[in-house]
Amino acid sequence: MLPARACNLQGCPGKGTVLKFRGQKPMEKGVDNWPEQLRDRWSGEIQWNSPMAHWCTLQVGGPARAIATPATRAELQSLLVVLAELGVCWRVIGRGSNLLVSDAGYDGVIVVLGRKFAAIEQQTGEKDGKIQVRVEAGCSLMKLVNWCTGQGLEGLEFAAGIPGSVGGAVVMNAGAWGKEMSEALAAVTFLSRSGEFVERKKGDLAFSYRHLETESMIVVVADLLLQAGDRQAIEKRCSQLMRDRKEKQPQGQANAGSFFKNPAGLPAAGKLIQDAGLKGVRVGGAQVSEVHANFLVNIGSATAQDFLDLMRLVQEKVFERFDVWLEPEVHIL
Ligand SMILES: Cc1cc2nc3c(=O)[nH]c(=O)nc-3n(C[C@H](O)[C@H](O)[C@H](O)COP(=O)(O)OP(=O)(O)OC[C@H]3O[C@@H](n4cnc5c(N)ncnc54)[C@H](O)[C@@H]3O)c2cc1C
Repeated sequence: MLPARACNLQGCPGKGTVLKFRGQKPMEKGVDNWPEQLRDRWSGEIQWNSPMAHWCTLQVGGPARAIATPATRAELQSLLVVLAELGVCWRVIGRGSNLLVSDAGYDGVIVVLGRKFAAIEQQTGEKDGKIQVRVEAGCSLMKLVNWCTGQGLEGLEFAAGIPGSVGGAVVMNAGAWGKEMSEALAAVTFLSRSGEFVERKKGDLAFSYRHLETESMIVVVADLLLQAGDRQAIEKRCSQLMRDRKEKQPQGQANAGSFFKNPAGLPAAGKLIQDAGLKGVRVGGAQVSEVHANFLVNIGSATAQDFLDLMRLVQEKVFERFDVWLEPEVHIL
């Protein structure tokens, strides 16, 4: 049995589950004509049968039955209400830069928090001598890093070059160069599965290495605490880190960043994979990068199954050689 992390089911009631939703009449799970009902009852933007390969940086994955892109918090809230009533599985994504979706696709609704959820706002007043910034989850990390640089705010330079959304970065507790997202966060506002907005202060959030325990809620807003700094110095640090990335990471080949988590107290996953002699190894169109062994790249024609098979091969070979089972950092859907 593959010990890969299964997807955390965000909006997937168990088969036969009877949903109770905000006092409304409970409905049996899985209304057969849910696409028609969704179209009739929710007026936001939906794309039908869209290949997930178009929504993920690995560029693999079969079609999602529906991709819903709410434009406002009210639209997101009403979408969850309708999906719960229809008993339809859903999953929220950001930029798909840490996702491997199966070739079979996703028989439910992928909720995308995109550019319409991308506002950044400096809050009035300081806290503990730091500047408070509020940012919506659909904002790209790069846009946020550039905005902070422009405002002379430091603390997020490590994120320069990470291609995800703010929501994805919070959920992944994204990090690089010894720093991680949780360090800059003061609070996170979620939308719960039952459609309520819930604010959690940092002290109440369970962050760990590349993980935040979200209790299957959607990250909607992140509150950050950043330090006032010198704009040029911040810009210089960001540029240097971007150059370092270019040097150390594969360029021009679709990937999802580091594929495996670094095992605690051991050499980095990339070093273990390299020392197991796996650099350049291929399964179909998926390859262990020649540049950085913890990057699995799409050499142009990969399927999701190629990535799953290559992942398994790497796990087995590293286990044989070092008695360590590498856990994927990439979420598998
Ligand atoms: C070239 C490259 C370099 C990378 N470098 C780094 C790096 O240095 N450090 C690092 O940590 N990562 C890195 N990554 C991985 C990735 O960019 C990060 O994990 C990023 O934070 C994921 O954000 P996303 O919006 O793409 O999330 P997605 O891939 O869309 O989603 C990731 C997970 O988060 C969930 N999710 C997304 N948005 C929300 C939300 N609003 N609410 C609740 N759940 C949500 C999804 O369901 C999924 O489980 C890299 C990736 C690439 C392609």
